[in-house]
Amino acid sequence: MALRFYNTLSQRVEEFLPARDNTVRMYTCGPTVYDYAHIGNFRTFTFLDILRKWLRASGFRLDHVMNITDVDDKIIRNAVAQHKTLGDYTETYTKAFLEDCATLRLERAERLVRATAHIDDMVGAIERLGARDHTYTSDGSVYFRISTFPEYGKLSHNDFSGNLAGARVDVDEYEKADARDFALWKAPKEGEPFWPSAIGPGRPGWHIECSVMAIKYLGETLDIHAGGVDLIFPHHENEIAQSESLTGKPFARFWLHAEFLMVEGQKMSKSLGNYYTLRDLLDRGYQPEAIRYLLASAPYRKSLNFTFDGLKSSAIAIDRLRNFKLRLETDQYPEGVDEPLMARTAQASQAFSDSLDDDLNTAEALAAVFEYVRDANSAMDSGEFRAGNAAAALQFLGRFDSIFDVLRPTVASGEISDTEIDRRIAERTAAKKARNFALADQVRDQLLGQGIILEDTKSGVRWKRKSS
Ligand code: AMP
Ligand code: ZN
Repeated sequence: MALRFYNTLSQRVEEFLPARDNTVRMYTCGPTVYDYAHIGNFRTFTFLDILRKWLRASGFRLDHVMNITDVDDKIIRNAVAQHKTLGDYTETYTKAFLEDCATLRLERAERLVRATAHIDDMVGAIERLGARDHTYTSDGSVYFRISTFPEYGKLSHNDFSGNLAGARVDVDEYEKADARDFALWKAPKEGEPFWPSAIGPGRPGWHIECSVMAIKYLGETLDIHAGGVDLIFPHHENEIAQSESLTGKPFARFWLHAEFLMVEGQKMSKSLGNYYTLRDLLDRGYQPEAIRYLLASAPYRKSLNFTFDGLKSSAIAIDRLRNFKLRLETDQYPEGVDEPLMARTAQASQAFSDSLDDDLNTAEALAAVFEYVRDANSAMDSGEFRAGNAAAALQFLGRFDSIFDVLRPTVASGEISDTEIDRRIAERTAAKKARNFALADQVRDQLLGQGIILEDTKSGVRWKRKSS
């Protein structure tokens, strides 16, 4: 089956192919580096990572640009309050963001670009928009006149006709039902940092930043533009207005938007205070792989409710897969293959691909994997498994993990000390004596998650560290 995505622009599921030379030119809106990102933000970035990996697995090359928004109202306010330069202030959070991405195993975009390194390009674009009468200046700020772009509203599917003239706005976000002329260039307020330029001193608005950097690196028409649903309006609508007014070409062929990570029915967000950073969860002892799994487990177009139970279930799901893998690697199987089981593996692998081809339906892809693991485990119990089946099963798990990337433990073996292992084994032995087999199994699985394999022998429990 061919790869298909839901396109916010057409409101339809469409078959996806890049326009040119088998390369996907993709732009995604990156973080505003004024603070640590929360795991709601990382839901969107995890979706983008799965998207990258599946595009590559589908045989395409990637040219992906992600921006770092390192100038905006909040950044300026905080930097000024802390008597720091913008650069010093944003450096901390840019570094933290990249560290968090690495912890969650999110691949780096081919190009990571900073807004403040492209001020001249933005000024040039604003001048060109001005030359075509798309702008006006008021109190030293330059605004985009949206009445000059009749298609305004085509992405968010709002009908703004009759409402395109007049009001203007300096902030980057406003009400969904409201069309406003937005700032391309903002005049500095007292005490704020600014750039001198041909259009006067000031700083760029958020929207122009993305249009300019996307076109500079990827050309006038992108294959994919993606971000969270909160960016559809006004941010992406404004990006389209600016970009298409500049080039006369469609700005992006596919627009993909991830739904929110929710907490008790509300969007996880800084302003509501209902958020956790990745660091908060790691401090509470959760493994990055479990967080990654949870964020990836729901299809990106469904909102996902964050709960600690969900996080625990994710850790259990990963343990099941790791145990299955360990069993494949360590059990002895007779030579040869069982053909019906081979067919079962091929069917599961196909179902996995079909699900991801279907607008990245990660929930179905995971279901295909777990149903297979259940069947394979019972085939092993009943002695049907052969060496050839184990090899095929490991290969399928490898395909799964090249996308989901959760099987490798984060805690490298060696980080848990021998004494700690002995203590945990003693705890397990005591649990077994008390006939608390659930606890005993839990200890064994946790140790396995940390790369420690237990073996029950006549002379007691032996353990070894898993190689790799
Ligand atoms: P920001 O740093 O605010 O520009 O946001 C970075 C990315 O996180 C954007 O693509 C947002 O759409 C996305 N985002 C923000 N909050 C959430 C949330 N609760 N769930 C999913 N994505 C979010
Ligand atoms: Zn953007």
